[in-house]
Amino acid sequence: AASAPADSPTIFDKIINKEIPANIVFEDEQVLAFRDINPQAPTHIIIIPKVKDGLTGLSQAEERHYEILGRLLHTAKLVAKQEGLDDGFRIVINDGPKGCQSVYHIHVHLLGGRQMNWPAG
Ligand code: 5GP
Repeated sequence: AASAPADSPTIFDKIINKEIPANIVFEDEQVLAFRDINPQAPTHIIIIPKVKDGLTGLSQAEERHYEILGRLLHTAKLVAKQEGLDDGFRIVINDGPKGCQSVYHIHVHLLGGRQMNWPAG
């Protein structure tokens, strides 16, 4: 994650296009949610827009992205409920090298199923 973000296709496009398998937990016309391949909690789900529209990361957000940004967060809430995370959960958006972002297609992490600590963990 040390290189500068570039607006080029990522592994998430292959998941969107069903070119590589993913454990999909929610899908509609705009968003896709699937289990993280390297889970950091008993429940760890990635929520992404199907169309990136320049959103390599949150740092690239513009006014035209307001609706999709809202959809990503609302989908996180729906999936948290679907996953039974009634005692709480955590939402994370990593941005850029210092934020530990590794895939440059904006995504929301939904983490749950264990006690979170702040700020570590
Ligand atoms: P970031 O580090 O950019 O915030 O998050 C990227 C996430 O995508 C990581 O947690 C990583 O485990 C996950 N990931 C990367 N490649 C794949 C993949 O091919 N399939 C799935 N399901 N998750 C992936």
